[in-house]
Amino acid sequence: MIARAPSPGPRGLLRRLREVMADAGSVDERLAKVVRSIAANMVAEVCSVYLLRNDELELYATEGLNPEAVHKTRLKVGEGLVGDIAAHARPLALADAQNHPQFAYKPETGEEIYHSLLGVPLQRDARVIGVLVVQNKTRTQYSEEEVEVLETIAMVLAEMVASGQLLGADDVAAVARAPSLPFRADGRTLSEGLAIGQAVLHEPRIHIEKTIADDIPLEKSRLDAAVASMRDHVNQMLEAPDNDIVGESRDVLETYKMFAHDTGWLHKLHVAVESGLTAEAAVLRVQGDTRHRMQAITDPYLRERLADLDDLANRLLLHLSGKSGKSAAENLPDNAILFARAMGPAELLDYDRRRLQGLVLEEGSSVSHVAIVARALGIPVIGGIGGVIARVEPGDQVVVDGDHAQIFVRPGPDVVRAFEQSLSLRQARLAKYAAQRDEPPLTRDGKRVALLVNAGLLIDLAHLDETNADGIGLYRTELQFLVRPTMPKAEAQQQIYRRVMEHAGDRPVVFRTLDVGGDKVLPYLAKHPEENPAMGWRAIRISLDRPALLKVQLRALLQAAEDRVLHVMFPMIAEVDEFRRARKLLDREVARLKALKKPVAREIKVGTMLEVPSLAWQLPALLPLVDFVSVGSNDLMQFLFATDRGNPRMMDRYDPLSPSLLSFLRWVVQQCKSHDKPLTLCGEMGGRPLEAMALIGLGFDRLSMPANAIGPVKEMLRSLDVLSLAEFLEGLYYLPDHSLRGRLEEYARENGVIV
Ligand code: PEP
Ligand code: MG
Repeated sequence: MIARAPSPGPRGLLRRLREVMADAGSVDERLAKVVRSIAANMVAEVCSVYLLRNDELELYATEGLNPEAVHKTRLKVGEGLVGDIAAHARPLALADAQNHPQFAYKPETGEEIYHSLLGVPLQRDARVIGVLVVQNKTRTQYSEEEVEVLETIAMVLAEMVASGQLLGADDVAAVARAPSLPFRADGRTLSEGLAIGQAVLHEPRIHIEKTIADDIPLEKSRLDAAVASMRDHVNQMLEAPDNDIVGESRDVLETYKMFAHDTGWLHKLHVAVESGLTAEAAVLRVQGDTRHRMQAITDPYLRERLADLDDLANRLLLHLSGKSGKSAAENLPDNAILFARAMGPAELLDYDRRRLQGLVLEEGSSVSHVAIVARALGIPVIGGIGGVIARVEPGDQVVVDGDHAQIFVRPGPDVVRAFEQSLSLRQARLAKYAAQRDEPPLTRDGKRVALLVNAGLLIDLAHLDETNADGIGLYRTELQFLVRPTMPKAEAQQQIYRRVMEHAGDRPVVFRTLDVGGDKVLPYLAKHPEENPAMGWRAIRISLDRPALLKVQLRALLQAAEDRVLHVMFPMIAEVDEFRRARKLLDREVARLKALKKPVAREIKVGTMLEVPSLAWQLPALLPLVDFVSVGSNDLMQFLFATDRGNPRMMDRYDPLSPSLLSFLRWVVQQCKSHDKPLTLCGEMGGRPLEAMALIGLGFDRLSMPANAIGPVKEMLRSLDVLSLAEFLEGLYYLPDHSLRGRLEEYARENGVIV
């Protein structure tokens, strides 16, 4: 294999390309000159340009291959090495291309004598429009630097192609985009719901007019000015009074600020300008590198940081184009469906909630922070649709169908009509629930059931008032920790907890202490890879082994409560001893604050989650020590049935409405009643009407659920006669059935219970 001499870099070549553009001559002649110049500069025998036309990659120009093959050789996307580069939008450098399994021999080109191949995609707005290839006879190992040079050239070439400098008008139109046909794409539902609206791109496409610099010092100073103005802008946003989002958005902005001063990033931008690119093209080039790196990284935290950097590059482009501050959030249509590759929670909060109807992400998982925020806002989100942005034009009509994890872009009238119908049914239902907001949650036979909401972000607070819930039955404090790049300080925590309690007023808020570990990974805590993280070092186990974090949190809670009643609950308690140790930590913090004459809660109610089955068999020993218990049915299901709650294959295998879970819960209810201790259930099942019916029937009188479940559950219980249901259930607990769902549905039907 032959090592190559160091590459001369793109500067000379960019100058040469500029000269070619200034030459008279037809577009064909220009393109021929371009490939000749690239071949010479890259010390390659072959340089070819393939462009996507009618869904095929057509050879448009070549230096070195048989000229007869031009406009004849065509490859499908995915076919051969060139097709592979286009399909994956990534470079390929091969010393022995012909022995690569993807190699597709095209006899008309005469390429059999060339062994090595370096190809890069020609991309515009993330859309692949062609492929640029160089080839050598010898088995050559292309260097990283050569790949980068060819990528820079490809970027410049793509702009020239798209702007018509290298092609005739007809070809430009053909290459520019495939016909806008309707399409449907599957993803994952990250937040449920249904929306119809028009596409808005979160990152507005900025088309750069010029990629090669006329005057390098001028470009440098333009870049510097844009960086300075971007920094100012970020500072201004940081200083602006932060109305209702405190923590989350500040932290993202702080990250931007840090990157805006990152010398590595700024250095790369300068090197790119030095090589002969305009400031805009330099930003695009460095952004392209970031995106490549992002594709290879699986660590969610690093990916998120790279996404931040990518976002910052977009902001810099806006500053260069003089369009800074005008984000897609401005001039938002009334029915916007937002498309983004990835997105931070704070960015989502930039948009007017009343106009934003749906969100589509190329990446994203249901535990991603933006998904958590979107759920709190009630915006349907479909994630995991790779490459979708390139196929959507702003203004396209889009249907987001959270029920089936799919989207329709430019759908036909029949599809739209069908979805409009189910949308109006859904809206009518929501309006009905809103109208029933002030109806008391009383069953037909007069039993009062406390309906509480689950929360975890400040934006959830609005739901308390919207739903008229009795309080917050589960405040997942870890969400505040998860949406931040750094650990929130005691002060910041205190401020958040105080706001939550102030907002709730007389309504109780049950703060659950940090429940991290398992799938909830804090970016700033060292990771300990575990085979079974759900059953590993998580929640209270971490807190007891490394109490520093918990102490800070307890102190913040105690101080934030001042003269109020504070409800604290510990997660994942598996045995009474763990509760005692956690409680001791709390008592010590109380004593410490009192000794320091610091404010402390007027009264403290301490409880535990019941989500590990072992604890149920210690209830007689536990109950005298606690003020309340809350069943976490999500984890309880996974531990009772030994089924991973995050494994989609296990999702429907066992039913919460099984005789085993229901009789287990009945035992818990009986124990708590006999000790006169309040019992709540705060897992997802409490928010599903049929499940909630069964829970109330077996004796629960407090349920905490996602806010959007309050309406349907209240409607159910107002149509329910508890005594009759309790009697009905008596006969079912010991049945050998897999599930009691069918019987309960039948009961609801026959007794007019609205589920
Ligand atoms: C549960 O496990 O049911 C629960 C409410 O806690 P989380 O879903 O946060 O684990
Ligand atoms: Mg849990």
